[in-house]
Amino acid sequence: MLLLTRLPTGPILIAGNDDQKQRYVRPSAAGEVRAAFGLSEPQAGSDVMGMRTRAVRDGDDWLLSGTKCWMSGVDQADWYCVFAKTGDPASREHDSISVFIVERGWPGVSVGSLDRKMGVKGVDTGELLLDEVRVPPENVLGEIGGFRAAMLGLNAMRPVVAARGIGLAEGALMYATEYIKQRPAFGRTIADFQGIQWKLAEMATEIEAARLLTYRAAWLADKGRYTKEWVPFLSMAKYYATELAVRASGECLQLLGAAGYMKDHPMELFYRDARQLTIVEGTTQVQLGLISRGVLDHDCWWD
Ligand SMILES: Cc1cc2nc3c(=O)[nH]c(=O)nc-3n(C[C@H](O)[C@H](O)[C@H](O)COP(=O)(O)OP(=O)(O)OC[C@H]3O[C@@H](n4cnc5c(N)ncnc54)[C@H](O)[C@@H]3O)c2cc1C
Repeated sequence: MLLLTRLPTGPILIAGNDDQKQRYVRPSAAGEVRAAFGLSEPQAGSDVMGMRTRAVRDGDDWLLSGTKCWMSGVDQADWYCVFAKTGDPASREHDSISVFIVERGWPGVSVGSLDRKMGVKGVDTGELLLDEVRVPPENVLGEIGGFRAAMLGLNAMRPVVAARGIGLAEGALMYATEYIKQRPAFGRTIADFQGIQWKLAEMATEIEAARLLTYRAAWLADKGRYTKEWVPFLSMAKYYATELAVRASGECLQLLGAAGYMKDHPMELFYRDARQLTIVEGTTQVQLGLISRGVLDHDCWWD
């Protein structure tokens, strides 16, 4: 819930003007309207610069055409934060992309197919279709070519996604622990075996390590430190906590044996939901690329 509200409003909080904040962020914060975030396209996920959605100037307005996909909350949203190329469609320069606030009710805006997902079924994801949607100048976010500023919103989101990973790992470990303390085997319980206890210890340690990385990332984001030099520290939290969620949900499912595989217990749900976390908001590989860039550039350095 927190993530879906913050994703489309984040760029406005960072790059938007007061009028845009009043018209879109305030009612979203009050729970009166919902919004969604349109960056990904069928041919352009990690490779954001490969997007094809275009915005062409028409007088003072812009006409937007293209298809966004895998958009969380697409069918429930009242407005969308949409990224589109205003410059040369083949350009790979960041300033060829601008950000627009698009309302659901405007002519040319429609929802396409909804996805059939493996997990995270509490919210729909799907396509947003834009067919010559007329966007007035007051709905351009920041400057034309202001992609970089809007993307800072994504950096600031890393601790929120990381927190989802931690909560998921904690839930899985607590559930599995209570189960194995009750489950008899070989005249003892599963929890009595040292090999199992070490697994609990490793997961507990990793959860606490992820928490500390995430608290630091949240503190940085709160201080407005989400520009390039802070990126590796924000990405570390997202990378580590979401990979932990996948590992811990898998290990905990195993601890329950067959019961873990059945829908009578929440483990299979945790396992399916965790898989999404390492893909959204910059995949694990994208985070690793950002962290390594930070080391290469000495943003993350220890001298
Ligand atoms: C449930 C769900 C909800 C989503 N919600 C939204 C949303 O609300 N709004 C939105 O805009 N998008 C959303 N997405 C899309 C998500 O942001 C993309 O899936 C993500 O950015 C990855 O893009 P992709 O799927 O096209 O993978 P690709 O970019 O095709 O990558 C495929 C694989 O290759 C790896 N890879 C890519 N490039 C490199 C590289 N240079 N080096 C090494 N490995 C690489 C990736 O890490 C990945 O493992 C959602 C996705 C899911 C699953």
